Amino acid sequence: MRPPLVELVANLHVHTTFSDGSGTMEQVIGAARECLDVLLINDHDGLEGLYRGYDGYQGRLLVIVGLELSGPHNHYLVYGLSRVPEYQWKEPQAFIDHVQAKGGKGFIAHPFEQGSPMSEGGRAYTWEDWSAQGFDGLEIWNHSSAWKIKARGVLSALFHFVFRTATLSGPDRPTLALWDDLGRTRRVAGVGGSDAHALMHPLGPFTFCIFPYPFMFRSINTHVLLDEPLTGKAAEDRVRVVEALASGSCFVAHDRLGSARGFDFWLENGSQVRAGQGEEVHLEPGDRLAWRLPRLSPARLIRDGRVIWTGLTLEGLLPAEGPGVYRLEVDRRQGLFGPRPWIFSNPVYVRS
Ligand SMILES: [Zn+2]
Ligand SMILES: [Zn+2]
Repeated sequence: MRPPLVELVANLHVHTTFSDGSGTMEQVIGAARECLDVLLINDHDGLEGLYRGYDGYQGRLLVIVGLELSGPHNHYLVYGLSRVPEYQWKEPQAFIDHVQAKGGKGFIAHPFEQGSPMSEGGRAYTWEDWSAQGFDGLEIWNHSSAWKIKARGVLSALFHFVFRTATLSGPDRPTLALWDDLGRTRRVAGVGGSDAHALMHPLGPFTFCIFPYPFMFRSINTHVLLDEPLTGKAAEDRVRVVEALASGSCFVAHDRLGSARGFDFWLENGSQVRAGQGEEVHLEPGDRLAWRLPRLSPARLIRDGRVIWTGLTLEGLLPAEGPGVYRLEVDRRQGLFGPRPWIFSNPVYVRS
């Protein structure tokens, strides 16, 4: 078993009053400081949070201000830019290349989102151009989209509001299938996004919020894994966290089901760790896939999109039977609702 890495709990894809979120930056940061190590802001097409000096450490919380390029389709989460780019939403290759040229990192947001009749008349902000190349990662799990899939009408919305933690959908199948497929030719990082807006809904003379920020910051998080602790210097630490996300040194978890801290998945040979999540190696005789879960849980080992092992497990060690894109999915039991999707590792890429 390899020793634990430095693990930071990050919440990505957060909107504030600088775009269409309901919380000011101060309110959002206040909520995040209670439970997160890193907060990543992605207001629509703007970097107001950066210009007003919110990027950096706020106490122990590292705030990273990126943005979301947000046309009618092709939404793209971007980190590391200092200016808002001019872009055409119909030309994703041009904006992907621009972000890369400026040293930024980008993730395709909610690629196969399905609209809900309860939200914006069923509108879905899907990714439309799959000829695009060079993006760093995919938002494999988006809380807002996972909720939209469930809220098909007033009654289902009410049911899934009351049981909003236990019934939340996992990452959608088309996204996972695409991710597994892309991984056969190159590394593509998977991240989770809350897409938190904390929208206020009218109810008679009152307004109420279904998903306030404190709720969202304990839901779908991306746990970042680092070799060394952060330095406390914002400029350095920001780069390290974004690099770790873009290289897939992270996993995605629905932490409301239970904290996923302590999870890890790697490839080892004898006593040597050969690759962690997001890393690529050539297969050698004796290579074994290994994992450690925060608690005994049902899990599935996936190779090239196919389940090759399932079981109830705490720590695991299985021979790598050949090259492949290997990743682990873990469920957590929720009483009457049974096992619910909990942790999704990034792949270890074992090449021939
Ligand atoms: Zn979006
Ligand atoms: Zn968004």
